[in-house]
Amino acid sequence: MASVAKHIMMPKAATPLPAPNVDFYELAETLPAEEQAVLKQVRTFMETMVAPIITKYWVEDAFPFELLPAIKELNIGGVGWKGYGCRGGSGLLAGLVAMEMARFDASISTFSAVHSGLAMGSIYLGGSEEQKQKWLPPMARLEKIGCFGLTEPLTGSGASRGLTTTAKREGNTWIINGQKKWIGNAPWCDVSVIWARDPADDQVKGFIVENKTTPGFKVEKIQNKIALKVVQNGLITMENCRIPEENRLQEDKSFRDTARVLKMTRYMVAWEATGCAMGAYENALKYAQERLQFGKPIGSFQLVQDLIAKMLANITASQCLVVRTAQLEAEGKLTDAHAALAKAFCTAKCRETVAWARELLGGNGIVADYNVARFFADAEALYSYEGTYQMQNMIVGKAVTGLSAFV
Ligand SMILES: Cc1cc2nc3c(=O)[nH]c(=O)nc-3n(C[C@H](O)[C@H](O)[C@H](O)COP(=O)(O)OP(=O)(O)OC[C@H]3O[C@@H](n4cnc5c(N)ncnc54)[C@H](O)[C@@H]3O)c2cc1C
Repeated sequence: MASVAKHIMMPKAATPLPAPNVDFYELAETLPAEEQAVLKQVRTFMETMVAPIITKYWVEDAFPFELLPAIKELNIGGVGWKGYGCRGGSGLLAGLVAMEMARFDASISTFSAVHSGLAMGSIYLGGSEEQKQKWLPPMARLEKIGCFGLTEPLTGSGASRGLTTTAKREGNTWIINGQKKWIGNAPWCDVSVIWARDPADDQVKGFIVENKTTPGFKVEKIQNKIALKVVQNGLITMENCRIPEENRLQEDKSFRDTARVLKMTRYMVAWEATGCAMGAYENALKYAQERLQFGKPIGSFQLVQDLIAKMLANITASQCLVVRTAQLEAEGKLTDAHAALAKAFCTAKCRETVAWARELLGGNGIVADYNVARFFADAEALYSYEGTYQMQNMIVGKAVTGLSAFV
């Protein structure tokens, strides 16, 4: 990548300017000391190993497999889940880890959230004791990487009622047929949690499928994405895949159980969106301190400071909201509507914030080398995945009005 500084730097200011502070209300202080140490480890990893190389991978649509050994070392597989070799820790820690990762790169945080949250969470919440014992420890160690297959080419927002992938029982075997679209990590991972409708009782059931050894299971990488380009998303096609009954998630009875997983992971997207906005803000603020126009740093202009203050306000409001969401979760009070409101608000504020950051860089804001365009584009995926803005607001609307807008 070209040197960024030489294109924007003019003479240094006489007195050093403050470094960006994205934890304006000191929320990280509320974490216990041992969890702050985990967070610091994640920050150091993202800062020293991910930040220097990630733009190149993003531009090339490639996943940095070279980072996997260091990610394993972080021991954050299954952060927030207790037992079965998982990291454990509070929901607040899980959220702050997701936020810290996304602050440097939303693709790496998405990779981690799909594996630890969606895939491991499905097994943690819906698996039998034996299934948890068998699958979670190797996944926690990142020896087996997982994905989560719910969305289909023709069924996205309407997945609760419209899944066309079928699972038909024949003795102790299930025969799965259908397609799953957009599935993060699928082109290279080991284990898929696949959601399919059982025509016998018309209920959605979850299955653990081994990607590399199941005949009839194929994955094509989705090409030409403009957001989260580092995450490898797949179109999965299953033709008469034979899955043993022991791989059906034994505690899951209907889509309500799928929704339990989504409640947890949706509010994690709120954390990721907050992190994505923080990353864009930090880079834009540094730029505003260094870039001169009319002989002065652009950060000294009133209208630029207005943008900077509005970005920080969005970020701080989102941080306060996700921290409270984690407290509700810890108290066992988190509802679908709480999670939906957090996801909708934080992703919308992220989208607004990254657009202001991009604007602040002028033309350089659309060039990947300047470290804002990546956040700007990635926010679009955060806004739409795990339930669009409209779907979240309909969940909130139903809860507060008592009237369902779902058809
Ligand atoms: C980068 C990325 C990664 C993803 N990773 C995964 C993954 O790992 N696993 C997985 O299963 N899925 C994944 N998804 C899928 C994602 O969850 C869906 O894209 C999302 O739920 C929206 O579905 P859709 O794209 O089919 O849009 P649609 O459902 O077709 O919606 C299109 C538009 O119509 C609006 N709309 C739909 N119905 C209504 C309504 N009743 N009222 C008002 N507006 C409505 C939506 O809000 C949206 O604006 C991923 C998607 C992306 C982009």
